[in-house]
Amino acid sequence: MLRITDLQLPLNHSESALKTAVLDQLGITENELIGFSVFRRGYDARKKNAITLIYTIDADTTINSELQRRHSNRPNISETPDTRYQYVAHANNQAFERPIVIGFGPCGLFAALLLAEMGFRPIVLERGKAVRERTKDTWGLWRKRKLQPESNVQFGEGGAGTFSDGKLYSQIKDPKHYGRKVLTEFVKAGAPDEIMYVSKPHIGTFRLVKMIEEMRAAIEKLGGEIRFQQKVTDIDIHNGQVQGLYVNEGEYLQSKHVVLAIGHSARDTFKMLYERGVYIEAKAFSIGFRVEHPQSVIDKARFGPNAGNEILGAADYKLVHHAQNGRSVYSFCMCPGGTVVAATSEPGRVVTNGMSQYSRNERNANSAIVVGVTPEDYPGHPLAGIALQRSLEERAYALGGNNYNAPGQLIGDFLSGKASTSLGKVEPSYKPGVTLCDLAQALPEYAINAIREALPAFDKKIKGFAMSDGILTGVETRTSSPIRIKRHNDSLQSLNTLGLYPAGEGAGYAGGILSAAVDGIKIAEAVALNIQSKQTP
Ligand SMILES: Cc1cc2nc3c(=O)[nH]c(=O)nc-3n(C[C@H](O)[C@H](O)[C@H](O)COP(=O)(O)OP(=O)(O)OC[C@H]3O[C@@H](n4cnc5c(N)ncnc54)[C@H](O)[C@@H]3O)c2cc1C
Repeated sequence: MLRITDLQLPLNHSESALKTAVLDQLGITENELIGFSVFRRGYDARKKNAITLIYTIDADTTINSELQRRHSNRPNISETPDTRYQYVAHANNQAFERPIVIGFGPCGLFAALLLAEMGFRPIVLERGKAVRERTKDTWGLWRKRKLQPESNVQFGEGGAGTFSDGKLYSQIKDPKHYGRKVLTEFVKAGAPDEIMYVSKPHIGTFRLVKMIEEMRAAIEKLGGEIRFQQKVTDIDIHNGQVQGLYVNEGEYLQSKHVVLAIGHSARDTFKMLYERGVYIEAKAFSIGFRVEHPQSVIDKARFGPNAGNEILGAADYKLVHHAQNGRSVYSFCMCPGGTVVAATSEPGRVVTNGMSQYSRNERNANSAIVVGVTPEDYPGHPLAGIALQRSLEERAYALGGNNYNAPGQLIGDFLSGKASTSLGKVEPSYKPGVTLCDLAQALPEYAINAIREALPAFDKKIKGFAMSDGILTGVETRTSSPIRIKRHNDSLQSLNTLGLYPAGEGAGYAGGILSAAVDGIKIAEAVALNIQSKQTP
């Protein structure tokens, strides 16, 4: 097979144009082409009137080797790499101690799936409920202001990404093509085929729910076990080696191989681990607000006359501004045609986040506009970032009216420093509701100043971004983990606790669904190789 990269065609090209372009690129006749498939399709929208599609194509011909020689000086034609996943280990028939995976978010899910596929029959402990019950609890907060601290947007089957836009791209280095394995498994579980080739794939909430159930069934079929409402409340460490775990302050489970895939909101578990001496350090994260605009404003700004084009779909954006006070402000977790969601896991606190359905056809676009904070802003204790998050979330709860409403403000009022009293044309999507106020009280002054400077700067890149009717709601505090549970680069075990594998977003090794899932695969391999090395040949 031959791979052709950077093949550019106009947005509205005919179906036959792609084949013609492949033949032209390779300099072959139709008879010499056996077939071709699209490996990747992206677009270049820098010129709104002349948007191009950019393809990476895999082509099979009757003269592959000859073409490789003929085009050896062309950087955009090469042999197609083998991206199929190769298992690194397999359990033999001897008895072995089953590995335990704590947490069933994308990281724990892929760690468990891979361990199961390699024959190691993992036990998964998940504090939240199975995804259908969890969905009801999550809607309970959004509709009835009832928060279930153990079953919500952050906790439960599927982890934090279940009620999300399901964006599946990441900038991680992936020389072993683990991301491909993740996408392949998602398609097997019911994700649309296109996630294999579009440059910015996404799945949306409804489909994710069904897919997670399929993947759970696959793990169980391979001998894995998934236990819900099983919170790990303590860890047994002896001579620097994990020995086992306590569940729900009672049952003891023995294992010397424990994957810690607990996400960024398991604050009680972070505290427990710290108290048991597991090495943890403070890490940078970001704080800010969600911003909402009409999706049509973003589409027009990004795609001009091509707004509404089916291939392009609802437009997204990615923005960065370096403020004069030294802070960076950036857009994060942009959800085209989506809604802002209540994402707290703790009573008396308000946190915003965003989600979309696969269709991305809600009226508003939303994203987090956040400011970087570092341990210098919360010095003194490895867990001090959590204290900062909590204080901001409590302030937001109070500003919202102590009933899980989010505090909100019109962009125009925010920029001119006055409290909002009535909505304009943009209706906020956050449920259960928004209380208008002056958001300057919601974040530290440095963050407010940086965001005030960034919004007009963003307007220069996306026309309409600083529109006075746009809505800000807050607060965004769970952008990434405020801690890192450090691990060795090679064994992937905790710096000071053997057999404990810190993984995924909570441990500070991922920042999204795809990267958390990829980290889960890496961790499964490390655990499998470790167990295998202890078995006699
Ligand atoms: C609303 C929302 C929208 C998002 N949208 C996107 C998106 O579109 N694209 C994207 O890439 N990312 C998105 N994210 C981020 C993404 O969901 C996370 O990066 C990802 O889920 C992290 O995976 P993880 O497995 O490391 O942790 P998590 O998904 O957080 O999973 C951790 C799991 O561990 C469980 N757990 C915690 N403590 C314990 C314990 N003591 N015992 C047992 N179980 C425990 C939790 O209940 C949870 O299910 C979104 C997040 C949210 C909240």
